[in-house]
Amino acid sequence: MEREHKITLVRIAASGALLGISYIPQLSAGMHIALCAAAYLVIGADIIYRAVRNLFRGEFFDENFLMSIATAGAFAIGEYPEAVAVMLFYQTGEMFQDMAVARSRASISSLMDIRPDYAEMEDGNGTLRRVSPDSVPAGSTIVVKPGEKIPLDGVVLSGSSALDTAALTGESMPREVSENDSVISGSFNMTGLLRIRTTGTYGESTVARILDLVENADTGKAKTEKFITRFARYYTPAVVAAAVLLAVAPPLIAGGEWLVWLNRALIFLVISCPCALVVSIPLTFFAGIGGASRRGILIKGSNNLETLSRIRTVVFDKTGTLTAGRFSVTAVHPEIISETELLELAALAESYSDHPVAVSLRDAYANSVDKSRVADVENFAGEGIRARIDGRDVYAGNEKLLARIGIAAKRCECKGTIVHLAVDGVYMGHIVIADTVKPQSTEAIRRLKAAGITKTVMLTGDRHDVAETVATSLGIDELHAELLPADKVRIVDELMTAEEGSSRLAFVGDGINDAPVLKRADVGIAMGAAGSDAAIEAADVVLMDDNPVKVADAVTLSRRTLRIVYQNIAFAIGIKLAMLLLGALGIANMWEAVFADVGVTVLAVLNALRAMRTPKR
Ligand code: ADP
Ligand code: MG
Repeated sequence: MEREHKITLVRIAASGALLGISYIPQLSAGMHIALCAAAYLVIGADIIYRAVRNLFRGEFFDENFLMSIATAGAFAIGEYPEAVAVMLFYQTGEMFQDMAVARSRASISSLMDIRPDYAEMEDGNGTLRRVSPDSVPAGSTIVVKPGEKIPLDGVVLSGSSALDTAALTGESMPREVSENDSVISGSFNMTGLLRIRTTGTYGESTVARILDLVENADTGKAKTEKFITRFARYYTPAVVAAAVLLAVAPPLIAGGEWLVWLNRALIFLVISCPCALVVSIPLTFFAGIGGASRRGILIKGSNNLETLSRIRTVVFDKTGTLTAGRFSVTAVHPEIISETELLELAALAESYSDHPVAVSLRDAYANSVDKSRVADVENFAGEGIRARIDGRDVYAGNEKLLARIGIAAKRCECKGTIVHLAVDGVYMGHIVIADTVKPQSTEAIRRLKAAGITKTVMLTGDRHDVAETVATSLGIDELHAELLPADKVRIVDELMTAEEGSSRLAFVGDGINDAPVLKRADVGIAMGAAGSDAAIEAADVVLMDDNPVKVADAVTLSRRTLRIVYQNIAFAIGIKLAMLLLGALGIANMWEAVFADVGVTVLAVLNALRAMRTPKR
């Protein structure tokens, strides 16, 4: 629990205790009032402070104001315990909301394993000391061994190594660094020992900035939540005006008792506090987010949950999303060299890539490769790889890649994804590989259609015939193949423009070559287990187990959450209006008002918690 919440909890307990003590029958009336006043200040001081401060800023009529005026008024007319009780309920609700927010943020940021735990700092005579990254001054010398994270931004003093920066940049290709090259914190030192001069403190480092971004990514509220704020802008002044009218009009016009009507006006104000709404709506969203996370669906914030509920088009990446991304070699067609040599060449060229094609080719070669033979690797997203192997220029990829160096890839009638290889401008042959459709993909598409998704689309950089086989077997409505990463962004843009009204589009991918699309789509859904940290960062929703059926689950779950939100809005406002009428007519007293409000809030909260349950299929 955070410090802030602990303090609130202590305040709630202290105030409750004071309120309890005030009921001891032997106490004088003066003591009773004094204890209630103390209890009231302990729990309500910050609300009153905020109400007054906002008043000076010209922001009247927020919740703080409403709570302050009603409870202070209650106090003024002698309803002491009621004033304390109203504040207590309000603060408790606020605290729970806050805790729910904090917890969901923590679970999202713990996904990103880029935070460095320590730095090895070198002092004047070369001895190393393990210290916390934030105690290293700029300009210090640190040493990073292979297998460690680089804790701070800096420049290499000595040593050379390959750095895995995938968690930061999404670039899966290792970056070769040596003396005088700059390195960024959060990247992973793979091969060599590095001595680094730090260029800034931890607070200024890349990794600290990224973590900050993720931890505060959730400041955007859902439209429905903003609705409360907008609602309060009209509701609160209206209620206050009505209360004033209630206090003054009857005594002036009909000669009513001043105190009676003042009392009713204050009861009216207490009733008017939209607690059920204010507490239950964020809670419903968090229950929805919590329920989703229990099913391995991480939703970053209520705005994304709300957008999910309006998804009408779902766009899938093929490799690693609808297919397993584990290719098996179905044919090896060398030109000059042997089959084994061709496979070895491919495995060497692909030795640093995270792409499913690369992983599969390495697995197919089965023997271990000597990575030191490989240098100067360059990745062409959506096309393939170029690398220097034993000093020779090797290209491994599709026809587009070979076209770059003016080589016509040999046509092959085989079914499957084809990786062509060329060495120093000479065509060496190709390897045919085949992927399998994930067993859950058919179910995923069927469930999405059953949930009323009007259009399913598949995008891929792979060959058209391969893509078509997959799309047809799954019953996908629309297919675009042989795309570069930029084409995917363009197509998703076009599809989003074509969306009508409040309909939205989701893109589902693994983040390899499609992180930009994840970011661009109304909702980006990343396959978390296969995806890189960058994909997890770029996405709005992360599926922990890479099961595409979870997309349909996420949509169903979000719609149910929104349905509960609307139920609660209707319920809370309906009851509220009825209670306001009773209060104005003098039928309800302040305790009844508080209990009615708590009752409505409790029911709304119970309803909200339904959002956590697993939806029926
Ligand atoms: P998808 O859209 O299916 O996820 P990508 O855009 O990642 O596919 O890649 C598209 C195509 O580019 C692949 O089908 C493959 O032919 C080629 N390709 C991409 N990366 C590599 C690589 N590392 N090695 C060989 N070929 C690659
Ligand atoms: Mg991909």
